[in-house]
Amino acid sequence: MKLSTRALNIHPSATLAVSARAAEMRRQGRDVIGFGAGEPDFDTPPHIKQAAARALSEGHTGYAKPSHGIPIAREAVCEKLRRDNSLSYAPDQVIVTVGGKEALFLAFAALIDPGDEVILPVPYWVSFAEQIRFFGGMVVPVIGAAANELRITADQLRDALTPKTRVVVFNSPSNPGGFSYAPEEVRKLAAVVADRDVVVFSDEMYDRLLFGQGRAHLSFANASPAVFDKTITINAVSKSHAMTGWRAGFAAGPRELISGMARIQSHSTSGTATFIQYALAEALTGDQSHVETMRREFERRGRHMYLRLSSMPGVKCFAPTGAFYCFPDVSETYPRLGVADSSQFCAKALEEAHVALVPGAAFGMDTHVRLSFATDLETIDRGLDRLAKFLKQ
Ligand code: PLP
Repeated sequence: MKLSTRALNIHPSATLAVSARAAEMRRQGRDVIGFGAGEPDFDTPPHIKQAAARALSEGHTGYAKPSHGIPIAREAVCEKLRRDNSLSYAPDQVIVTVGGKEALFLAFAALIDPGDEVILPVPYWVSFAEQIRFFGGMVVPVIGAAANELRITADQLRDALTPKTRVVVFNSPSNPGGFSYAPEEVRKLAAVVADRDVVVFSDEMYDRLLFGQGRAHLSFANASPAVFDKTITINAVSKSHAMTGWRAGFAAGPRELISGMARIQSHSTSGTATFIQYALAEALTGDQSHVETMRREFERRGRHMYLRLSSMPGVKCFAPTGAFYCFPDVSETYPRLGVADSSQFCAKALEEAHVALVPGAAFGMDTHVRLSFATDLETIDRGLDRLAKFLKQ
């Protein structure tokens, strides 16, 4: 069968490929420890499940009306953005989406024409690059320097902008980097784009998962009044509320853009399932104590993983300040292990040490690997014991 060029140009997700190989090895009876998962190992809090069950028993089983978000869900998004992010949006500036991923997809679909340039800080979450290419956009990578713990600077952003730049992607806290930008850095980046005709996609999926004393999250849209009108804020309850399987995300931004996205959504997914939108509203406006419980646990595990990784020969790691990933540079070990890149490193670690990691190549950095600490401490220790032994060979 002849597939479209578009379909052929999409690479399968590297993170899912690692999980699939690890699952296959487990089926063969091998004890594989997975550091690949990009999802919390916690269950969705009971009051959120109850909200979905209640919506079902009350008969909320028809199409969502309107498809881009029932009023209660869009109002809940406004409340969350006001409470956590000091952002003031009206419900007609909000769209409810099938996870954060659909919000990004619709926003790229609504903005990118073939040949448009999209600035993408490296390392980047894998789907950004694939989605940009899917719409014919040109990825303009801006590489975060190790000296700045992989965060890009305002000067780098300024140098990358051209008259063809249509979109700037910004993701803090970062997947895969595990770093987050300080408010002052966000303000400096925002000043660079303030008078430029670009749209900023601010992916704030991990805004509630910040670690370390005095850490604060500044939403890009909140950096200055000038950037508010050119920023779309994208988020979901997937990571913050342990709801990856529910597929509930949202975006808020300029009305014109949101309504363009809503038009595309109305001809594709028709939006998030209605009863799940009730659960989304509960997650965003109900009891939030579980978010802090999870955050604290991730912080403890992240610190532990970072300290252990840093003591391994040839591994250079920064302390994670957000999300739930460590992203060490392991390239010094390549010659010793007889591997040429991060994919070979991960394949060898999986086959020989039975530890599943994600190659940095998937995130634009072939010198690094990603380890998720969304798994319990005991498993983390067992996996790191194996990794330490593997690296000593
Ligand atoms: N953006 C980032 C930075 C992510 O890490 C992820 C999930 O891994 C997503 C978006 C997509 O989230 P969702 O599962 O809500 O579609």
